[in-house]
Amino acid sequence: MGEEIRWEPRALTLDRLSWEEFRDYLADGTDLALIPVGSTEQHGPNGSFAVDAGRAEIFARKLAERLYPKAFSVPVFSYGVSPHHLHFPGTLSLRPETFMMLLRDVIDSLYQHGVRKYFIINGHGGNAPALTLTLGELKRDYPDIKAGWASFTALGLDAVRDQVTSRVYGHACEIEMSQAMYLAPWTVKEARSAGAVCASTNKGPGAFPIHWAQGFEEMTENGALGDARNARWDWGRDMVELALDRLTEELENL
Ligand SMILES: [Zn+2]
Repeated sequence: MGEEIRWEPRALTLDRLSWEEFRDYLADGTDLALIPVGSTEQHGPNGSFAVDAGRAEIFARKLAERLYPKAFSVPVFSYGVSPHHLHFPGTLSLRPETFMMLLRDVIDSLYQHGVRKYFIINGHGGNAPALTLTLGELKRDYPDIKAGWASFTALGLDAVRDQVTSRVYGHACEIEMSQAMYLAPWTVKEARSAGAVCASTNKGPGAFPIHWAQGFEEMTENGALGDARNARWDWGRDMVELALDRLTEELENL
């Protein structure tokens, strides 16, 4: 699907640089590592396993482009913490401690090269607790670093939230698949089928902050929460560009 993406004027991505080029960019003031993290997990009947990794990777590149030449992105984490999706065939999950060690090893490597600022671009909600714990430990061990993370969905959702009509949404839904259409169209099934509705659950969010461990199969038959048939490319654009605006402002003077 689609034309080749062009990056204007440029986005620094580690996988396209030689070590000598990278060394020279560091010497010239490049000092912020953008680390995209995703998952390999089911996205209902309408998305491939790469929805999270694809969105995170391209979002990080777009942010690197906005922040050029201050920031560079590193290769995406294609695996994430997804035990709640393992009921659905094909989902591949890391244990939280594996994910934390992977992230730690990548940041330790960057630290050795002199990078002191890290920002994680998260495309999968299941990674969130492990991200927070890992960054807390890193700050304890390296007080001289700046490190943070954000989900770009949370950062840009208000661009479209009022237009969403599904009673329940949150996974492989019109929100997520709109972003996928804009950022990673190769992960969207062209013939989008059967809207998904959250089945009733007796352990869903209630009046009190009580947390239950739940598999997605307890909430939805086809793996989605929300209705991807309502996804729109322009919704994806509006959410992503708003999130990019906010992060650019936050990070450009870090
Ligand atoms: Zn997802």
